[in-house]
Amino acid sequence: MAWRLGLLGHPLGHSLSPAIHEAALAACGLTGEYVLYEVDAPALADAVERLRRGERDGLNVTIPHKVAVVHAVDGLAGAAAALGAVNTLVRDGGRVVGHNTDVGGLVRAVREAFSLGDLRGEPVAIVGAGGAARAAALAAAQLGAGVVRIANRTPDRARDLVLALVGAGLRVELAPDFVAAARGAALLLQASSLGLGLAATAAAWATAMLTIEPVIAALAPDAKVFDLVYRPEVTPWCAAAHASGRRAASGLGMLVHQAADAFTLWTGHTPPRAPLLAAAQAALARSATVLP
Ligand code: NAP
Repeated sequence: MAWRLGLLGHPLGHSLSPAIHEAALAACGLTGEYVLYEVDAPALADAVERLRRGERDGLNVTIPHKVAVVHAVDGLAGAAAALGAVNTLVRDGGRVVGHNTDVGGLVRAVREAFSLGDLRGEPVAIVGAGGAARAAALAAAQLGAGVVRIANRTPDRARDLVLALVGAGLRVELAPDFVAAARGAALLLQASSLGLGLAATAAAWATAMLTIEPVIAALAPDAKVFDLVYRPEVTPWCAAAHASGRRAASGLGMLVHQAADAFTLWTGHTPPRAPLLAAAQAALARSATVLP
């Protein structure tokens, strides 16, 4: 069969997902396509219905639909149920089940980047309060974090997230600012869009560094920094961490792991990681030249 896979979201301009999933198809000896579907909110339910009817074989979901799509599916599995956010839709008979492979992808990417076993109760800082921060909080718990401190540019949004996560049984605290969240933490999970695409302008990079450097300096001396952002491949958070002598990784590894896990849910095949990462790096290098 030819697999009909794709991504629902808006905007999808520079998505790396087609390159990663096409590499997965090739590595597993399968044929098919991975199509970008620019879908706005009113069209979301119809797009899910097409999967339910068998016109597609598997779909990813991204910004801005990860939470809204919960209302269009017939059930939620695992981390998607815990978070109320979905990035992968799987057809199961005549039902569509929502999964969330971001959490497992982040856990595996952090372990891989830093050869990390268990955090053994050490504090973790999360910057951001959107869907990625929500996944990061669950990932931190799975990594064995102690207290998880969350800070966001808009504090009310962080407060709402902390309340929701506490309600879900996670040990999280609201921090008044990024530096307070980072103080003494062993791991920083950077889940905001601060720094996204900044390689394009030196002035924007320098301005971002004024915010980022004090946050990095507040971490434990041997802390690790995982930036969920992967564009540019060395983000300002990673650059600042490296400059301070701390280890850091960008979110490309997470992107590849979450894609591989989605691919396995759809096809039953487990793609090797190396060709998927190479495809993502090549696509990232190509798209870097066309950033605004
Ligand atoms: P989102 O729901 O739109 O949230 C964006 C977050 O970034 C909010 O907390 C927002 O703060 C914050 N933010 C935006 N601009 C900022 C700035 N200039 N300074 C400080 N904070 C800023 O997006 P999301 O889904 O959580 O995604 C966040 C980032 O994670 C994105 O860049 C995305 O590419 C990345 N991500 C990566 C992966 C991966 O596989 N590697 C997966 C998911 C997401 P306010 O609330 O104040 O607006």
